[in-house]
Amino acid sequence: MKEPRKTSTETQMAHLGENRSRYDGAVVPPVFQNSLFTFENWDDIDAAFETRTQRPIYTRLMNPTTRVAEQKIAALASTSRTDIQAHLTSSGMAAMSAAIFHVVEPGDHVIAVKNIYGPSNNFLNTYLRKKMEVVTTFVTGTSLEEFEQAITAKTRLIVLESPSSAVFSLQDISKVAALAKSRRITTLIDNTWATPIFQKPMDMGIDLEVHSVSKYIGGHSDVVAGVIIGSSERIKDIIVHEGELFGGIASPWTSWLVTRSLRTLSMRLERHQKNAQSVATFLEQHPKVREVHYPGLKSHPQHELACRQMSGFTGLLSFRLDTEHLPSIKRCFNALQYFQIGVSWGGHESLIYAPAISYLKELPPERFKDLGISLGDMRISVGLEDPEDLLEDLSQAIRHV
Ligand SMILES: *Cc1c(COP(=O)(O)O)cnc(C)c1O
Repeated sequence: MKEPRKTSTETQMAHLGENRSRYDGAVVPPVFQNSLFTFENWDDIDAAFETRTQRPIYTRLMNPTTRVAEQKIAALASTSRTDIQAHLTSSGMAAMSAAIFHVVEPGDHVIAVKNIYGPSNNFLNTYLRKKMEVVTTFVTGTSLEEFEQAITAKTRLIVLESPSSAVFSLQDISKVAALAKSRRITTLIDNTWATPIFQKPMDMGIDLEVHSVSKYIGGHSDVVAGVIIGSSERIKDIIVHEGELFGGIASPWTSWLVTRSLRTLSMRLERHQKNAQSVATFLEQHPKVREVHYPGLKSHPQHELACRQMSGFTGLLSFRLDTEHLPSIKRCFNALQYFQIGVSWGGHESLIYAPAISYLKELPPERFKDLGISLGDMRISVGLEDPEDLLEDLSQAIRHV
């Protein structure tokens, strides 16, 4: 079969990595729902062990269904490099923890952005500190000087998340990557918000990229998976160490669903972006909304950087209602019809969540105020519904404030 051009995203997602003639012409690759693969004789299995991340032997190391999804994601991650490989994992956190373990050793120092995903922050700040005496310095990430000042002789890793999925603040990815390279420090980015379609950190000098595939890449709210992307050399090392030893791999069935999702990722994102832009603009002009946080808006404090390093914006954003009166906030929240109440994001459906719900459980009220969170903060994932319906829904709900 003709191999798609390196730069044609949609054609690659339709055809790359799919050897149809091997599977009786099946237009959709089969699910290799098997744990092991068998061999002709001694020499045959002996040879397979020589290249054990390439030829299937046992599904924890390599499965052909998983490899199809991995090849497509690796192709998405860079427009210029040909040495990129991807490793699909059982969840985004499996990807994050394996990527960090791949880099750090006991006593190392890590620099991370303060607003990274909660469990990633927790993994660095409490788990690794306790188990491996790995100490993390947290920075806001908005200036290069801050990273420079945080570097010590023991700094081994810098962890970014741009935009962060909590407050949508950005880091200048190329600049941080260049600084890290000059000091021989490894860089890791959580690129879940932007997706490998809208932001390509591998082309900006970043060493390792992770995604929660459970969000936009999966896109249908029916899989939990993750992925680690890096040079073939690094990924092979991760497969035979963190992959084989921790065993957090994506199952064949999950991998098959991910391949299904990748075929429509680019088209889904176009629509998420269009809908989110309408919703963000509508909210920004609404008299009962104090502020809107969305990198795609001109009013976002880092909008210019956002346009420089991303080619598009996805559908997760937040806004602050112009009140602290809990009963009327709840009335608005509960009045929504199309925005369903739930955590997570990136699926076809529109969702709403109020960060205060979890923070109020975990923190005393004074701390809650210190963090700069308001009762009126709403996070919404703008789905693929008709934008007019979404605006109407928000409009009728906000009338309850
Ligand atoms: C959801 C999420 C994760 C964790 O992914 P799981 O697949 O739920 O383990 C990591 N980073 C970000 C930014 C996320 O939103």
